[in-house]
Amino acid sequence: MSFVLQGLGVSGGIAIGRAHLISHAHLEISHYTLPQKSIPAEIARFQDAVQSTREELEALRDSIPADSPAEFAAFLNLHLMLLNDSTLSEVPRQIIESQHCNAEWALQQQMKNLLAQFDKIEDSYLRERKADVVQVVERVLKVLLGRKQLPSQGREQGSILVAHDLSPADVVLLKELQCSAFITDLGGTTSHTTIVARSLNIPSIVALHNARKLIRENDLLIVDGARGAVIVDPGKAVLAEYRLLQEQWELEKQKLKRIRSTRSTTLDGTQIHLHANIELPQDVKQVRESGASGIGLFRSEFLFLNRMTLPDEEEQFELYSEVVREMKGLPVTIRTLDLGSDKHLNGTTRVSANPALGLRAIRLCLAEPQMFRTQLRAILRASHYGKVRILIPMLSSAAELNLTLALIAQVKEELDVANIPYDKGVEVGGMIEIPAAALALPLFMQKLDFLSIGTNDLIQYTLAIDRADDSVAHLFDPLHPAVLHLISHVIRSANQAGVPVAVCGEMAGDAELTRMLLGFGLREFSMHPSNLLTVKQQVLKSSIADITAITQKMLKADEPEKIRTLLDRLNA
Ligand code: PEP
Ligand code: MG
Repeated sequence: MSFVLQGLGVSGGIAIGRAHLISHAHLEISHYTLPQKSIPAEIARFQDAVQSTREELEALRDSIPADSPAEFAAFLNLHLMLLNDSTLSEVPRQIIESQHCNAEWALQQQMKNLLAQFDKIEDSYLRERKADVVQVVERVLKVLLGRKQLPSQGREQGSILVAHDLSPADVVLLKELQCSAFITDLGGTTSHTTIVARSLNIPSIVALHNARKLIRENDLLIVDGARGAVIVDPGKAVLAEYRLLQEQWELEKQKLKRIRSTRSTTLDGTQIHLHANIELPQDVKQVRESGASGIGLFRSEFLFLNRMTLPDEEEQFELYSEVVREMKGLPVTIRTLDLGSDKHLNGTTRVSANPALGLRAIRLCLAEPQMFRTQLRAILRASHYGKVRILIPMLSSAAELNLTLALIAQVKEELDVANIPYDKGVEVGGMIEIPAAALALPLFMQKLDFLSIGTNDLIQYTLAIDRADDSVAHLFDPLHPAVLHLISHVIRSANQAGVPVAVCGEMAGDAELTRMLLGFGLREFSMHPSNLLTVKQQVLKSSIADITAITQKMLKADEPEKIRTLLDRLNA
């Protein structure tokens, strides 16, 4: 039976393919007992499943591209180690023998025993390995239940991944897989999970609420990323129509490539800088293909996820300088660690009740100065090889800014003493993503070389809406008058003071908002590379002289409908 699920489209395009459910080890499994004569066969079934899982993990590890971060292989090695340990490969066998229960039940019982033991462990790092145990058990269960494993490179291409929820760290791992679309029950349009999913450059939809329950493994799906619709088990006519739309979409994408090298200027001759956002060094390839004139936001914290140990100075230096070298003199804006909130280091024990308001980003860095200094040293050393800019996330007070600048000065001094080269003129900028910073702007402008408006967090904190919570995702409104006032105020004030200002939140990559931001005075945008040419197309056909009258009216309007009508007029 065909039916449609509606969610929030976060990455456009159309995918048609078979569903692959990413399940959880706590899923419903049947519990039954077996007669004595069936026990040897049940044990063999369990052992075969363990062996298949082992082969699957080994194949996955061997298929990791050579240029992938080292943590991918480390992560798979850890899972192999857990699987090979007798607690997972042997004890369930004994449970089947002694309790005459089915293999799935035995494995689940043993997993619960293990998780309970993990809870008692003092060492926070070891305690956090619980998630890995669950993932390994999940893999074996999927084999036992006859389900397919996560599609690996070169196999299962074109699957549509269906998950209840995923962390940003999970999605980073999915980057290695070649699925054609990605849909989840939870999530908001600017959650970090979504942002990374968007960087997979495939259609994705979040906040579907019941997809994981209603869709079965192998169902045929159409994912319409732009409209946020998933069509399950479509009829022939719908399928034919979508195949046509899919071709048209691909054609449009190809056509856009023609403006890749065109200078980004408005019809009335104003140059607009279009920069790209990245999470990992391998994203640079896409940046270069998009024709971006620099990297406006390198979310460096993604280098710290999915790994057992923190990257040391040398490793970070190598990674940053690799990006800097590949960008061949174009600016690379490295944001210092924005950990906390929804991105945690393995081993993090204390997560505050409201993590987005807790020890996040610069607050965490100042609380962990050793980790911060290591990163600053690595960034400064990389600055010797090109044009690096340092960007500080989540600034809210003068004290934080002063401490940060003092720390940067200290690190520079250390490098001077050790005769280690770095760019002495490296610029330091701050993210304006907390309303307090936007309202007390002079505090920050006096001491910073540039500003970057993080609209994702600015909206979250202004409207008091958790950007990762699907139940309030419909309230997340970039066109809210309060948001528009704050953004235009920051751009106007920075322009007046002669401080360069960019927008690097998701609003910068939304072509529907390009003209409005140009009208507010914005001349630098930083976005996911897949949006860059669409935004450039909008820039090329816009005249700032024709825009400003309408954007001024938008700022005076309070009614959402009026703002929307004015936006439509702006884009007509
Ligand atoms: C933002 O908040 O708009 C931003 C660009 O940073 P992040 O999305 O990583 O929080
Ligand atoms: Mg932010």
